[in-house]
Amino acid sequence: MKHMKVILTALAFAGLGAWGQEKLSETKQFPAPVNEAQDRFENDVETLDKAENQKAFGTRPKNVILFVGDGMGISTVTAARIFEGQLRGESGEENQLSFEKDAYVALSKVYNTNQQTPDSAGTMTAMMTGAKTKAGVISMNQNVLLGDVSTIQGNNLITFLEMAEIAGKSTGVISTARITHATPACCYAHTPHRDWEADSTKPAEASAVADIASQLIDFPYGNGIEVAMGGGRRYFLPKEKKDPENVNQTGSRNDKRDLTQDWVNKYPNAAFVYDEAGFAAIDPSKTDHLLGLFERSHMQYEADRANDTAGEPSLSEMTQKALDILERNEKGYFLMVEAGRIDHAHHEGNAYRALMDTVALDRAVEAVKERVDLNETLIIITADHSHVFTMGGYATRGNNILGVVVENDDRGLPGNPSKDANGHHYTTLGYHNGPGYRAEASDIEPEEALDPDFHQVAAVPLGSETHSGEDVAIFAFGPGAQLFRGVVEQSYIFHVMSRALQSGISF
Ligand SMILES: [Zn+2]
Repeated sequence: MKHMKVILTALAFAGLGAWGQEKLSETKQFPAPVNEAQDRFENDVETLDKAENQKAFGTRPKNVILFVGDGMGISTVTAARIFEGQLRGESGEENQLSFEKDAYVALSKVYNTNQQTPDSAGTMTAMMTGAKTKAGVISMNQNVLLGDVSTIQGNNLITFLEMAEIAGKSTGVISTARITHATPACCYAHTPHRDWEADSTKPAEASAVADIASQLIDFPYGNGIEVAMGGGRRYFLPKEKKDPENVNQTGSRNDKRDLTQDWVNKYPNAAFVYDEAGFAAIDPSKTDHLLGLFERSHMQYEADRANDTAGEPSLSEMTQKALDILERNEKGYFLMVEAGRIDHAHHEGNAYRALMDTVALDRAVEAVKERVDLNETLIIITADHSHVFTMGGYATRGNNILGVVVENDDRGLPGNPSKDANGHHYTTLGYHNGPGYRAEASDIEPEEALDPDFHQVAAVPLGSETHSGEDVAIFAFGPGAQLFRGVVEQSYIFHVMSRALQSGISF
């Protein structure tokens, strides 16, 4: 079969290893591997041998690491796998992401107790407490009404992170979203409304409930959370105080509390950092409690991180620094790492940034798998929910995943760009709804589709694209990973993790 010519123009940027803001700028196809049939046959046999000889991992996990790709549904995983392979000049379809290789896999049912297509608060509450709840509610049970303080009495749910602290383990929370945003908040806070991130974002009648930012700092269990890193700095600083990075702006708290100072005052050997230099200067052997807030709101998308004024660490760098601190505890640790902005890029209908952030998660998992002892560390990678993001059209093998569809000709060889019923090009990737809606049908120039800021076409006009309700995948490694099989309720994840805490239990 005549090989297809491929030109990959890589725009190298500082960032994740050898790649950064590469842009798949050519509309040409990528070559399929030579002798592929033979390779796949051998790979399949090897995979089968491994499965047959797979020993139960170790006996008992001491550590648990939960990675959450916010909005990383299966269509996102598939497209990111191809994208990551094509960034390295491969065809992409045959690629494997680091969290796919040799993983135990199950499907997770993500609905909230009051919503078929969930939000991030109800889903993360299920993973962290073992109980599903209503959309928008943070680690409180389903008896609570959204934002209704009169319904909260006695409805708090203890979280896995709190249990780990009580068990004497070290704990950490990392997110590229605000550290007070729904997913990380479910690890350490309890509130009937996910928007109550600061005192200034809470209604007056909610004075009985502490805001999420202050709950992170005033955390009452064990010897306190060891590591918290992400965005959201404005909710930790009073409005009287200038922001350390964006000096023309201030904090947004009304209660005059500087929570970053409270953190440093509360813990021995504690530190607060807000930029790359401060982060790099942290000596993990001398730092017991690290708070890192690298943006006033969410951290940068991976695609834009290199443009950040003061610089901010990557998801993988934050994860490695956290492990440097957490591994010092002989009793073990629990770490939650969220790629929080896959979700945001999808809401904006921008596949490029969603895929770049998914590959950033892949890199973070890869570095962790290479570092930790899989005989004593359970690693779980999952999503809280999916998005109405789809991959379609009969694109030829190796077609640029961000590009317009190029079908095969009648001999099954790469043909010409396909045209829709209006005679227009269309892309492989698209959204069922969102800001990419086009009132007037219009053509998409092949190069246009490859622009990092391109919004894929959406069928239903909405200001923000929505989550979707289909199942998501759970990938697992280490002691207990073999318990992830079949189709499970999302809350099942909590039960596997908490079984790990029950000393003397071996999987
Ligand atoms: Zn979302």
